[in-house]
Amino acid sequence: MKSLAFLAAIAAFATFASARNTFVLNSNETHFVDPKTEQTVRYFGCDVQRGHGGRNFEETIKKLHLKHKHSKGGPRAAHLTRRQTQTPISINTYFHVLSTTANAGLITQEMANKQLTALNTAYNPYGISFVLKDTTFTTNDAWAVGSGGDMDAAKAALRAGTYKDLNIYFLTDYYGGNLGTCTLPSQVPPGAPPSMYVSDGCNVNVNTMPDGSMAGYNMGKTAVHETGHWLGLLHTFEGYSCTGDGDLIDDTPMESVSTDGCPAKPAKVSCPETTGVDPIHNYMDYSTDECYESFTPLQIARIEELWNQFRVNF
Ligand SMILES: [Zn+2]
Repeated sequence: MKSLAFLAAIAAFATFASARNTFVLNSNETHFVDPKTEQTVRYFGCDVQRGHGGRNFEETIKKLHLKHKHSKGGPRAAHLTRRQTQTPISINTYFHVLSTTANAGLITQEMANKQLTALNTAYNPYGISFVLKDTTFTTNDAWAVGSGGDMDAAKAALRAGTYKDLNIYFLTDYYGGNLGTCTLPSQVPPGAPPSMYVSDGCNVNVNTMPDGSMAGYNMGKTAVHETGHWLGLLHTFEGYSCTGDGDLIDDTPMESVSTDGCPAKPAKVSCPETTGVDPIHNYMDYSTDECYESFTPLQIARIEELWNQFRVNF
């Protein structure tokens, strides 16, 4: 039975890994040209969707959503009860800088350290911290673009730690003008060999690092957003609809259109009939770095529950 479970997990993970590499441009996404590199950049182009999660992810977040709905006193009361027993989450983190020959030397350890600070500044208020264990620098013209099998090869060579450790790959020439993407959690059996979860981790456009060239997106918060996916959060505009489950988190307003920039005045309202103003300051929207401010209490509750289910036991 154990080997059968292993095979099923491998099959699920293979499906998940191939889906990750299928880029589908949503009609709601737009483009801009980075004035420094003259590269056409998609607003995020993150394309992380609930169906991309690995084994047991989707059924787990559906159950957690229902659990909070049915808790006495509603979602907030459930959250407060749980927080009383909360233990801080400390995450071993590995950065991997992948550079083309032409861009070798573009990224410094100082920038990597500032990137770590950006992660901690965003997450520390919620009891989540990141400890940088290592930063690797690799010059490889194919890996620095990270398309398809090249990214798989880079991860196979570089991924460090276990399934509970965060690996972020910063690419100097990320294909398609994407800002970043990441894998969602998956039910990987504790003790499974690293080959089973080698694709786990986030890809981030190197120009979004603090002091990077990507105007509007160079405060390191693309990595904050992508790490949110790694921890199990979906976009606040998941489903691009004012009806349905959305992101399966009840204290984020429904949002049918992802946000470009920071449209605070007048307020952006994509679902006027339901929850009002869009959550443009939430890290799981597509807003600019300066616009990002916070996660909601139930997003943090979701992170903690998924951490305990999927990652902590490694
Ligand atoms: Zn995203």
